[in-house]
Amino acid sequence: MKVLVAVKRVVDANVKVRVKADGSGVDLANVKMSINPFDEIAVEEAVRLKEQGVASEVVVVSCGPAACQETLRTAMAIGADRGVLVETDAALEPLAVAKLLKALIDKEAPQLVILGKQAIDDDCNQTGQMLAALAARPQATFASQVEIVDGKARVTREIDGGLETVQLALPAIVTTDLRLNEPRYATLPNIMKAKKKPLDTTTPAQLGVDVTPRLATLRTVEPAGRAAGVKVPDVATLVAKLKNEAKVI
Ligand code: AMP
Repeated sequence: MKVLVAVKRVVDANVKVRVKADGSGVDLANVKMSINPFDEIAVEEAVRLKEQGVASEVVVVSCGPAACQETLRTAMAIGADRGVLVETDAALEPLAVAKLLKALIDKEAPQLVILGKQAIDDDCNQTGQMLAALAARPQATFASQVEIVDGKARVTREIDGGLETVQLALPAIVTTDLRLNEPRYATLPNIMKAKKKPLDTTTPAQLGVDVTPRLATLRTVEPAGRAAGVKVPDVATLVAKLKNEAKVI
């Protein structure tokens, strides 16, 4: 069973992002970039399926500029077998990425496609769902457990206040939630090995996909700063403020 995993290069989760002065977006100059954390979980899950003998090959794909090769190498250091870069400098919206992934599904015919539930830069939570619709495949989003039983995928999903287990016919699309697994650290030998693994490059034009944006960002603003605190002289004043000003008691 071939597994395809989508990995996005995003601003590292520990970076405090700055909004550009003209409000047109986030400043990416000299900012540390990393693999999207949910995609790292997706790669780990695919590699575990391979280690269990369930998957035969793990292919990772990233869409974006040439620097996404680094993201693919990170995924290959975790254990993916090969990478595909869909190279473009265009700003990619989830629908464009879903169309690119659909074109790759047509070429690669994976039985399982694993994506992150969301990219931590745009927080869209759309690509997996759009891909499932475009490829007409069953989907299980927010997965916290994935098993392949009798040729079907059994996926436990994190839903409000509990868990739901669904069974999907393969081929299928799964998106990962945080508790699915804890990704391993890539060891130095595996990082070295990953440098030699095959990495193919293609383009949206070669895949026949028009990635022209359909949305325009009107403005981007920083979150409001926290208001300064006040000191109160006694408990009675505190209680009065909580009651009358904050209205929380
Ligand atoms: P989003 O819908 O943007 O929140 O992204 C959800 C998931 O889609 C991510 O966790 C990735 O698995 C995948 N994805 C989104 N953008 C890209 C991209 N440019 N390249 C590869 N995978 C992507």
